[in-house]
Amino acid sequence: METIFERGKSRGKYFQPGDEIPKGSKLGDYLPETLLRKGAIGLPQLSELEVMRHYKALSDRNFCIEKGFYPLGSCTMKYNPKVNELLASLEGFANLHPMQSDEDSQGALELMYNLQEKLKYITGMDAITLQPAAGAHGELTGMMIIKKYFEIKGETNRKKVIVPDSAHGTNPASAKMCGFDIVEVKSNSKGQVDIEALKSLIDADVAAIMMTNPNTLGIFEENVLEISDLMHKNGSLLYYDGANFNAVMGWTNPALMGFDVVHLNLHKTFATPHGGGGPGAGPVGVVEKLKDFLPSPVIEKQEGKCEGGKYIRSYNVKHSIGKVRSFYGNFGVLVRAYAYILMMGNDLKLASADAVLNANYIKEKLKGVYELPYEEPCMHEFVLSGEKQHQQGVSTLGIAKRLMDLNYHPPTVYFPLIVHEAIMIEPTESESREVLDDFIETMLKIAKEIEENPEEVLKSPQTTPIKKVDETLAARHPDLTYKN
Ligand SMILES: *Cc1c(COP(=O)(O)O)cnc(C)c1O
Repeated sequence: METIFERGKSRGKYFQPGDEIPKGSKLGDYLPETLLRKGAIGLPQLSELEVMRHYKALSDRNFCIEKGFYPLGSCTMKYNPKVNELLASLEGFANLHPMQSDEDSQGALELMYNLQEKLKYITGMDAITLQPAAGAHGELTGMMIIKKYFEIKGETNRKKVIVPDSAHGTNPASAKMCGFDIVEVKSNSKGQVDIEALKSLIDADVAAIMMTNPNTLGIFEENVLEISDLMHKNGSLLYYDGANFNAVMGWTNPALMGFDVVHLNLHKTFATPHGGGGPGAGPVGVVEKLKDFLPSPVIEKQEGKCEGGKYIRSYNVKHSIGKVRSFYGNFGVLVRAYAYILMMGNDLKLASADAVLNANYIKEKLKGVYELPYEEPCMHEFVLSGEKQHQQGVSTLGIAKRLMDLNYHPPTVYFPLIVHEAIMIEPTESESREVLDDFIETMLKIAKEIEENPEEVLKSPQTTPIKKVDETLAARHPDLTYKN
């Protein structure tokens, strides 16, 4: 597709004053020679309608939840209610400047305070920061808190962080960025942390374990209480990657499971739009003893100052790790998440139940045709293996591309790493029985196509703007620049 510059070019040059800035002219006297424009800048000449069409055509190429089923495992592509957009764009929220005083920002601060309270309730944690801008950023924040906690305690020997082999790649990366050494613990045949293997890794140098529960196989770690006991007896902490929280909202929480630090992905579980790089929000919750380490400022409520209390940004955090983001977080995302939580109320629990039901429904219908490496009942997502189809000539990547031709966003593929040819499916609670049935039928149809005519499947994708690419060539000779 042509860029907007190419499209408008054919109509000849468009000039505006200052296109050419000769030396000796007013502006030319101030600018160094090298910065002076030598010719017209060549802006496209298009009407407003043509510009609209151009950008609409571009956006049509994007796949989104409003266009079709988006079962991208681990990413929780649920429906984001549009009323949230309306609320986030209210003038008082959208036009508030972050440098305005507490007095001028009471509404926004109250919202942030209330959101902190809701997230405390939902996670069981004692304090929350809303600053981190994403899940991985939350992980980094959490690990910085854990590091400083041990520094203040004088236990600087605690340099190791244990991470299960099924973990999201951001977990070891975040711990490593904080200077920890990563120790991997194996999963057992049930897809859960192998307790005996874990015991053999625990020693006086272990600072923490990072886990998500349910884990990235979509399986609930049934020994989580034993694990937290083992870690705490060793003086270590437990970090909860809350990206999979859509499975357990209202049914259990990380505090009940024995975790000390948790991050949530508001842009996954709490229905704020994501994909394409943000913005997101990854609030971090901590237990009482870690409260003094949170990033500053924290949003506090001072009772008795005025009617209803006064909300302030407090920089009075004793061992604060400091700021982790400019200003106070992605405020627009916080508004959307708060609206979603208020709208759902106790139905958050129902959302998790439906998410789990939907995942189990698809799993039961697809197992047998696709390999199911772990037979455990799943939570909000599950992982198949495309090993059988791979042997018939089409790898998981080929299945993903065939799905694109049939108007589905592909599931997450090749993750978690411990499953060969992994296909990770997360339907979320947003979808109807009919949508799930259509998807199941499509997956079964693709398996049949692979059995009968794998060559044909390998031609996909054919309906997308970019057709099948030569991956070997792309890897060997990447063309990274846009040329006119
Ligand atoms: C998405 C995800 C993350 C990272 O969250 P971002 O907001 O993308 O940084 C971490 N862990 C798990 C399990 C995830 O699914």
